[in-house]
Amino acid sequence: MITAQNVFIGFGKAAKTLAGALANRGESVIMIEASDKMYGGTCINVACIPTKTLLTSSQNNRLGDAQENYFNAIMNKNDVTGTLRYSNLHKLSDQATVTVLNGWAEFEAPKQLKVTYQNGKTDQISGDRIFINTGSTPIIPEITGLKDSIFMQTSETLMDQKRLPQKLVIIGGGYIGLEFASIYANFGSQVTIIDANDQFMPRDERELAVAVQRDLAAKGVQFELKAQVTKVVDQVGAARIEFERAGQAQQITADTILVATGRKANIAHLGLKNAGIATNQRGIIVDDHLRTNVKNIWAMGDVRGGAQFTYLSLDDYRIVLDQLVGDGKRTVLEQELVPHVVFLNTPIATIGINEEQAQKEQIAYKVGKLATKAVPKAHVLGNTTGYLKVLVSPETHEILGATLYCIDAQELINVVSLAMHQHLHYEVLRDQIYAHPTMTEAFNDLFATIK
Ligand SMILES: Cc1cc2nc3c(=O)[nH]c(=O)nc-3n(C[C@H](O)[C@H](O)[C@H](O)COP(=O)(O)OP(=O)(O)OC[C@H]3O[C@@H](n4cnc5c(N)ncnc54)[C@H](O)[C@@H]3O)c2cc1C
Repeated sequence: MITAQNVFIGFGKAAKTLAGALANRGESVIMIEASDKMYGGTCINVACIPTKTLLTSSQNNRLGDAQENYFNAIMNKNDVTGTLRYSNLHKLSDQATVTVLNGWAEFEAPKQLKVTYQNGKTDQISGDRIFINTGSTPIIPEITGLKDSIFMQTSETLMDQKRLPQKLVIIGGGYIGLEFASIYANFGSQVTIIDANDQFMPRDERELAVAVQRDLAAKGVQFELKAQVTKVVDQVGAARIEFERAGQAQQITADTILVATGRKANIAHLGLKNAGIATNQRGIIVDDHLRTNVKNIWAMGDVRGGAQFTYLSLDDYRIVLDQLVGDGKRTVLEQELVPHVVFLNTPIATIGINEEQAQKEQIAYKVGKLATKAVPKAHVLGNTTGYLKVLVSPETHEILGATLYCIDAQELINVVSLAMHQHLHYEVLRDQIYAHPTMTEAFNDLFATIK
């Protein structure tokens, strides 16, 4: 039996950060990670970091042979993820009180785990505290022929395919599907998105959805919306994807199918029942402090069934650390107002409410809007696509929400988020002295449009 004060299942964002913090305080830590390709978790190995690395490469390598550019981009992506994986592992494993185990963990009892290593050997582990951070895994919908198709990829496997797809069909038009559409269209694949929703980008305002669909279409991305995939049939060199729209049967061929229909919490084969840990459809049930129903067992990150973002998993670490060494006041309620970003050639960043929501919910607002082409730095960067829009309260002068569809929106949104959390009047951003030329200085003009 190997014992430690703190046992972590899964090397995700919350786990690695909390493990490091507890080890720094001299506490003993066991970190159990199922795959030696996943030290550091999903984000750095198969999700956020590789997709953004590929997006950057796809924007830079426009000349020359498309297949060669793509191959080089995959190699570069592998270098980036390999470097981060190594540094993430050693940041923990180099600490005197930390033991990293490479194996599959499952509960045998509330305080007892079994780890099964790749060679089939096992160890029993016990800990005073146990933290579950096992993340999520792609959902493969029940479509005849899909699971067994040799052309099927998930977001985790496509980025290991060294051959550039000629024809890529993406099932699912959520943020992951859109990011892959942008990347692969840049590299030169013929991309088609098939999505069952009635509306494109249903959670966003129509003005944004229309602009984004138009801009992706200008890059060659095709859309089959309100379409339900019914069957996948493997043929020589390509798959036939059959779908139905408004009762009409249609089909398309592709040499690569990316399934981007969401991710589910990783709770299978964890032995949660042996420990009496309660779950629901979404994942492990936790309270506002991320405690499961079993004393001294916490669940953090995607596995607890909330919104799936690395920065929320990171915040989960803060909530738990605050209980262990602070005043325990921090809760998940503080995660309600956070930015959301979709990393396209022109990124989309939103926070708070949009204009359609304000109208629907009859919230009083004033609106400010600026075309990206009015921002000098956008010309410097060579991308004047999109617009910036903010809603403010006429009563409190605080910002109610922002929709930024412009180059560097992923950076700008953090400034808006800070202002919202600090309850700043919008005039503070309007009258701030910003460095020039920057995208942030657009806030001078954007907030000045509010009358
Ligand atoms: C393509 C894509 C792009 C994304 N882009 C972004 C983005 O730009 N920004 C953003 O904020 N979020 C993004 N996300 C979401 C983000 O990646 C996840 O929300 C985040 O990585 C979840 O982290 P986590 O802490 O829950 O655990 P994870 O990082 O998922 O770690 C879980 C770990 O547990 C291990 N594990 C599982 N079961 C066991 C077991 N029984 N025993 C031992 N180990 C186990 C797994 O191998 C894994 O390493 C993206 C996701 C995808 C798929």
